[in-house]
Amino acid sequence: QEVSARLKRDFSRGLGKHSHHKAPVKMLPTFVRATPDGTEKGDFLALDLGGTNFRVLHVRVVEEQQKVLKMDSQICAIPQDMMLGTGEQLFDHIAACLSDFLVSQDLKGQTLPLGFTFSFPCEQKEIDKSILIRWTKGFNCSGVEGKDVVKLLKEAIHRRGDYDIGSVAMVNDTVGTMMSCGYRDQSCEIGMIIGTGTNACYMEEMKNVKRVEGEDGRMCINTEWGGFGDDGSLKDIQTEFDRVVDKMSINTGVHTFEKMISGMYLGEIVRLVLVKLTEDKLLFKGQSSEALKTPGRFETKFISEIEEQDNGLENAQNILTKLGLKWELVDSRVVRLVCDTISSRSARLCAAALATIANRIRVNRGLDHLKTTVGVDGTVYRKHPNFSDELKATVRLLAPECDITFLVSEDGSGKGAAMVTAVAHESPFCLCM
Ligand code: BGC
Ligand code: MG
Repeated sequence: QEVSARLKRDFSRGLGKHSHHKAPVKMLPTFVRATPDGTEKGDFLALDLGGTNFRVLHVRVVEEQQKVLKMDSQICAIPQDMMLGTGEQLFDHIAACLSDFLVSQDLKGQTLPLGFTFSFPCEQKEIDKSILIRWTKGFNCSGVEGKDVVKLLKEAIHRRGDYDIGSVAMVNDTVGTMMSCGYRDQSCEIGMIIGTGTNACYMEEMKNVKRVEGEDGRMCINTEWGGFGDDGSLKDIQTEFDRVVDKMSINTGVHTFEKMISGMYLGEIVRLVLVKLTEDKLLFKGQSSEALKTPGRFETKFISEIEEQDNGLENAQNILTKLGLKWELVDSRVVRLVCDTISSRSARLCAAALATIANRIRVNRGLDHLKTTVGVDGTVYRKHPNFSDELKATVRLLAPECDITFLVSEDGSGKGAAMVTAVAHESPFCLCM
């Protein structure tokens, strides 16, 4: 309740015209509005950067069946050194992947509109002008922060000169997720990601979006809730382990909330707790291993495996053996308890934040009771055995007046991006929200 109340206050600060520039939760306008309309057909390209994989997609919107079809897609690896290299290298690589994909799809002669799911905080000026505020999730390419990402992409494509693209729409992954679910369930007005990073967007009343002119209708707001706590407001609930994770990260001091929740960090938090318990001789008879002492070696996916209902203990034992640890039964039980503690905290913190959004929408509309749907995606939400259950139960507790349906998105970063692109360029495509 306390976390939810603090976030509520930060939402208002982020939306306010004068409080915005100092607000840790950015509440970014996305220029995606509720636009009930007809349907449109056509082919779109989509890029998806900032999740587990970088992907290129070809998406088709079929008018007759009101369907969005993924025609084909390709994963392109982004090597670790490129994530920390120059922006030019990164965008040249993206342009090259797109080129290869167009050749393989026999699309090179066409100039298709492109939806760019770029899952980082961006100050959007228009749907096709999007300035990177800062990198997150292990990316740190030089010369991109403060720049228009659409321009960087177009410049890279022009440097090649072997193909062109049509109009571009920039989409945060939360927005793509909301849109792709909105297609199936018209009351979907929240999008949430709990994967490598975490974030959510929702439909806000235009009259509350003080930084964009206009009073009528709604606009989707990208909350960037990952930045919650960056002004120290969560200090009292941060642990010594959170502080180490923050210090060792490449973006120390920022995305405090994200670092307590998302897949990029959960494994490392667990590892740090295990190291401490071993030092205190409460695990493995005080005998650590090289692997356990190495940052990053305890992967977040281990948490899901260890918490599995039936095979969890056995999985824990196999993982501990692989990490070079000598365990007894009790050790594997303690490790499981640590995993459970860290993933539960993550689920509950997310729930507190989601409750803030749901309550805000309810109050915005002057309702005693709100029925709404949230489109969700992300590896932590999808893959962890009981994360989603714990999240849902906690939201019910914190937002009892809200009846929330959770819909796992079908490729929001791909199909959702195509939908935003279709709408953005005034194709009369139905988003009936
Ligand atoms: C980014 C958000 C994104 C989220 C989930 C965060 O690190 O700042 O823009 O939506 O990760 O991918
Ligand atoms: Mg994604």
